[in-house]
Amino acid sequence: MTREIQHFIDGKAFKGKSGQFGDIFNPNTGEVQARVQFATRDEVADAVAGAKKGQAIWAAMNPQRRARVLMKYKMMVEDQMEELAHLLSSEHGKVIADAKGDLIRGLEVIEFACGVPHLMKGEYTESAGPGIDVYSMRQPLGVVAGITPFNFPAMIPMWFMGMALSTGNAMILKPSEKDPSVPVRLAEIMIEAGLPEGVLQVVHGDKTAVDALIEHDDIKAVSFVGSSNIAHYIAQGCTKHAKRFQAMGGAKNHGIIMPDADMDQVVNDFLGAAYGSAGERCMALPVAVPVGKKTADEFVARIKAEAVNLRIGVSTDDTAHYGPVVSAAHRKTIENYIQMGIDEGAELLLDGRGFQLQGHEKGFFIGPTLFDHVKPGMQSYEEEIFGPVLQVVRADTLEEAAALPSNHQYGNGVAIFTRNGLAAREFAAKVNVGMVGINVPIPVPVAYHSFGGWKRSAFTDTNQYGTDGIRFFTKIKTVTQRWPTGDIGDQAFVIPTMN
Ligand code: NAD
Repeated sequence: MTREIQHFIDGKAFKGKSGQFGDIFNPNTGEVQARVQFATRDEVADAVAGAKKGQAIWAAMNPQRRARVLMKYKMMVEDQMEELAHLLSSEHGKVIADAKGDLIRGLEVIEFACGVPHLMKGEYTESAGPGIDVYSMRQPLGVVAGITPFNFPAMIPMWFMGMALSTGNAMILKPSEKDPSVPVRLAEIMIEAGLPEGVLQVVHGDKTAVDALIEHDDIKAVSFVGSSNIAHYIAQGCTKHAKRFQAMGGAKNHGIIMPDADMDQVVNDFLGAAYGSAGERCMALPVAVPVGKKTADEFVARIKAEAVNLRIGVSTDDTAHYGPVVSAAHRKTIENYIQMGIDEGAELLLDGRGFQLQGHEKGFFIGPTLFDHVKPGMQSYEEEIFGPVLQVVRADTLEEAAALPSNHQYGNGVAIFTRNGLAAREFAAKVNVGMVGINVPIPVPVAYHSFGGWKRSAFTDTNQYGTDGIRFFTKIKTVTQRWPTGDIGDQAFVIPTMN
C-alpha cells in the first residue's frame, strides 16, 4: 500500500474524498514513495470555515501570548531538526546540510515574528486638534492563504506562518504537491506549540485547490511563491476577486565578475551558488558575467576545472555537494534547455546530461553543466532553467555587464564581485534588480530586512517578511477621539479643518 499524505485540518489529519492524488517521488531512487491527496473545492471551503472560527480565538489573544507560541515553536522545530531535515531531503533531494539551512532560514523569520508586540504597535498623536487625539492600530486581515513552491518546503511556509500567524491571522497553507510532508509536520508542531486548532490548516492540491482559495470570499489575502507565469496568474486572480496578494516568481540571477575581483572567492562562490541544491534556488547564481577577456578566460578555466570534480550523491550522503533534482519531468526540462543552448550556438564545456549515480541509476541526477559564449537573445539565457547549469555571458565593460541583469525579464537577485567600492556602490544603486550582493553570491536578506525581486520576479506591492510582511498581513485602523468636556460647540456643516 502506498503511503498517503493527508490534509491537516482543525488540528488533525483529514482524509480527503476527491479520489485525486499526486505522486511523491524519492528523487534519489526515482521511486514513488507516497501519494498526496488533492483537495476539492468543498474541502477547501471546509478548511476556510474552520480557520475562520480559529482565527476569532487567536486574534483575541494578546500579541505577547501569540509570540510565545512562536517562541516555543522555534525551540520545538530546533529539537526536531534532524528528523525534519531527513524528511525534507527525502522528498526534495537536497542534501541534509542544505535541508537544515532551509529549515533554519525559515526559523529566522519565526524568530523575527516573536517581536510582533512591538511590530504591531500603531502611531499616536496627542492633541491633533483641540482635545482630539489620533491613533492607529494594526489589525489582522482574517483568514489568509499561503501557496508555496517545491524548492524551499520549510523556509517559505515558515515565512508565511511567522508573518501571518503572529499578526493574528489564520492561514490555509497550500504547499507544493511535490514535497508536502514537511509543511504538514511544521503545521502539526505549531499546534503542539499552542496554536489553537484551525488557525493553521494545510490543504494539498493543484490548480483546483489554488483557484478555490483565490475565489473564496473569506480568504482576505494570498501570499504566493513559485514560477512567474503562475505568480502572474495569482496576481490577476486576486485582483479580479479584490484581495491583497504577494506573488513572487522565477529568477535568472547574474554575477558580474570585475577584473579586480578575488578570483579564488569568485570561483568558490559560483560553485556553491550555481550548483548547490542542484541549482533549484530562486536565488541561485546561474549566469556569470566576467568583464574583459582575461577575466573571462581565467574564470572559465578555473570554474570548469572545479565543477567537473563536484560530487553528486544521494541526498543523505554528507560528502555530496548536491543531490538529485526533484522529478524526472524537471530533469527532462533542464536537459531540453541544455540541448537548446547547444542549438543556439553557445559553447558547451561540461555536459551533465546522462549522469548516472552507481547504485541509483533511476535517481533524478544531473551533472554540473557549463556553457561559455552565451548571448542575450538566446532562449536558454532569457528563461529560467532551475538546474545545475552555469551560463557564462562575456562582457567588455561594466556598463555592458550591468545592462544584462537590468534588461533581463527577471530581477530577483544579482551580485557583483570587485574590490572597487565606488563601482560596487554605483552598480548597487543603478541596477534594475531587487536584491543585490556585493561579493555575496546569494544575497537573501536577513529576516529583519525583507525579501523581494523586481520585474517578472515579483508581482506584488510589498516584499515578504520583515516589516513589509507585517504591513501585508495587517490592516490599519485610525481612530480620531475626543472626550466630552461639556462645551458642545457650534453645529458644523463644513468639513473640519485645521485652519
Ligand atoms: P510552481 O509555480 O510550479 O508551483 C508553485 C505553487 O503553485 C505550487 O503550490 C503549485 O501547486 C501551484 N501551481 C502550480 N501550477 C498551478 C496552476 N496552473 N494554477 C494554480 N496553481 C498552480 O513552482 P515550483 O516549480 O514549485 O517552484 C519553482 C519556481 O518557484 C521557480 O520558478 C523559482 O524561481 C520560484 N521561486 C521563487 C522564489 C521567490 O521568492 N521569488 C522563491 C522560491 C522559488
